[in-house]
Amino acid sequence: MQTIKAAVCHTFGEPLSIEDIQISAPGLGEVEVTLDAVAICHSDISYAEGAWGGSLPAVYGHEAAGIVTAVGDGVSTVRQGDSVVVTLIRACGTCPSCAGGKPTICETPYDGDQGPIKTADGGKLHQAMASGAFAEKVVVDQSQVVAISPDMPKDAASLVACGVITGVGAVVNAAGLRAGQDVVVIGAGGVGLNAIQGARIAGARRIVAVDMTEEKLEIARSFGATDGVLATAKRPWRDAMKAMGRGADAVIVTVGAIPAYDQAPLYLARGGKVIMVGMPHSGAQSSYEPVILSFTGQGMVGSKMGDVVIQRDIPWMVDLYDQGRLKLDELISNRWSLDQINEAIADTKTGSAKRNVIVFDR
Ligand SMILES: [Zn+2]
Ligand SMILES: [Zn+2]
Repeated sequence: MQTIKAAVCHTFGEPLSIEDIQISAPGLGEVEVTLDAVAICHSDISYAEGAWGGSLPAVYGHEAAGIVTAVGDGVSTVRQGDSVVVTLIRACGTCPSCAGGKPTICETPYDGDQGPIKTADGGKLHQAMASGAFAEKVVVDQSQVVAISPDMPKDAASLVACGVITGVGAVVNAAGLRAGQDVVVIGAGGVGLNAIQGARIAGARRIVAVDMTEEKLEIARSFGATDGVLATAKRPWRDAMKAMGRGADAVIVTVGAIPAYDQAPLYLARGGKVIMVGMPHSGAQSSYEPVILSFTGQGMVGSKMGDVVIQRDIPWMVDLYDQGRLKLDELISNRWSLDQINEAIADTKTGSAKRNVIVFDR
């Protein structure tokens, strides 16, 4: 056991507490990663607010990058000293989903209560999202990490772990977008901007961003949106149709707001698909007209973490970043220390478009 500093949630809705915790050495197939950066994702905030339940006390944080500082037995994919992206995608490799090429929906349960971390006095501490990355170190399964060049800035690399793979993957994997197709992206936040640049990379014809303010639409344009529509308009889908000349082949919903889900099918062309990425609070309901979807061959499909296979998809995304074709540095709004995490979370909650990143000095 080692003692490290972490941001712990003791009560939903209360500020996180910066305190010492204990972390065990990596076991079979596990790696210890000393973190350089962890970004704050809306999922961390939803969990900390109690939106989806879960055990307490808990350490959230799942969008991280660092250096492998220890490996357990049976680790073959990375070595001590490797720079890595750390994701929450813990995949057994052998269940039907993993074997079918969908590790993001691995069926082997993982119990974060039995994970590698404990409170300073040895009490139960939940490793949320199989990561617990609001901490100086994590111990995770080797399936969750991908090695990257040591030259890549870790703050940029951390973003790849969630927002980037989720947004870009929603377009290239879940929607299977072809060059020349039209895309609507609802929500130009951390995931939405990545869906927009994913659509640009995939060669979309029109990329219509939908959000609440002109400021966010302007940022969306800088990531590749060709058109912007205010969600506050009376019938925003009509404005989007005007820009495209027809409906969208894919509508990517990147926010958890129910009105966005209710309206999403209205943007579709015949044969188009809504890709459901944004995560409303548990119990929230949306409605649609089944007859329209069946009559027009439309569909609605959920996509978790961009349906990525991290060992396949993270290397090409990193290469596009190196070439200047995938924007990562531009996604960072601010850098904070772990001690400032509650301020960083408060800033993220104001709805700013980009990511706040916690950076660790060592
Ligand atoms: Zn996330
Ligand atoms: Zn599996």
